[in-house]
Amino acid sequence: MEHEIFVTRPSMPPFEEYAAMLRPLWENRWLTNMGAYHAQLERELTDYLQVPELSLFSNGHLALEGALQAAELSGEVITTPYTFASTVHAIVRQGLTPVLCDVKPEDGTLDESKLESLITEKTTAIVPVHVYGHCCNVEAIGSIAEKYGLKVIYDAAHAFGVTLNGKGIGTFGDMSMFSFHATKVFNTVEGGAVAFKDPELTDKLYAVKDYGIRDEETVNAVGGNAKLNELQAAMGLCNLRYVDRYIACRKALHDRYCERLARTPGIRFFTPRADAAPNYAYMPICIEPEKFGTDRDAVFAALNAHGVHLRKYFYPIASEYACYRERFAAASLPQAVRLSRQVLTLPLYSDLELRDVDRVCDLILQTAR
Ligand SMILES: *Cc1c(COP(=O)(O)O)cnc(C)c1O
Repeated sequence: MEHEIFVTRPSMPPFEEYAAMLRPLWENRWLTNMGAYHAQLERELTDYLQVPELSLFSNGHLALEGALQAAELSGEVITTPYTFASTVHAIVRQGLTPVLCDVKPEDGTLDESKLESLITEKTTAIVPVHVYGHCCNVEAIGSIAEKYGLKVIYDAAHAFGVTLNGKGIGTFGDMSMFSFHATKVFNTVEGGAVAFKDPELTDKLYAVKDYGIRDEETVNAVGGNAKLNELQAAMGLCNLRYVDRYIACRKALHDRYCERLARTPGIRFFTPRADAAPNYAYMPICIEPEKFGTDRDAVFAALNAHGVHLRKYFYPIASEYACYRERFAAASLPQAVRLSRQVLTLPLYSDLELRDVDRVCDLILQTAR
């Protein structure tokens, strides 16, 4: 059998560059608690992401929980089920009630036309997801939020470096969470951040991630521990030097997939907004069984048998999780359900070879009937 191909693989800087960053840490022994690399990474990411303010976290999930806590919400929060488990879990773990909104089949983001019917007197916020790095309709979501006095906190975990009409995607809404997990476009091994505008959030987010400790003798908020450490920050500083190259490599691979598969009946590509500059975070396609002749699960199994590991990302959707089935039994989510039955994400990472893309495409095309 030929070598295995995995769906993702972390981008890593040259080993010597990272190793050189470690030397000062061995000398000064400042390993965590907002050290020099932490401060430098916060500055550099604020610039790179073109956001007004940024607060680093130990991972994206805790950044999202931190954003929800800092927003001081109560009651109901509207989000979508077509996302990673983290999104809905963060809302529930913050003691809030998630309400699920269906998504649009063309890009997988929250369907803003269904939003108003889900708003009640208990609704306090909307948590839309820039799924696969596809930008939500931030304009429509923003005006609905304004009309009803709701906060908007974006799950931008997939959207590192994405811009919309030249503006950083993290500038929309009240806050945006980014993830720097090993499998994301930019990584700090584990890590994340909240981007925000209101300067008052600086202290609130700091409290959330460092036990509410204000100074040596003052603890004035119920915070947890979600600090990004210096080894993570060093990885981020190294990876940030290469991230434009990583994205360029992803684009070349993405374009090859499109070239090889776009004309095949029954393979549908997502169509994200044309006014956004993408980051090629994922390579999702939909298998439409009536036209393709076989279904998504058959394609998944056939490629697996050849050592090519795809992902059904996102299947199941949140309303189908064993822990949530009863809670969301009444939710109407036909588009999210259908997408989750048809979607496959194909291997895509910065050092994947073009010939591997060709092999994946050959195998997919062989399964068509
Ligand atoms: C990765 C991810 C998260 C969580 O980020 P971590 O850094 O892994 O904690 C949240 N939401 C979405 C959509 C993600 O893909």
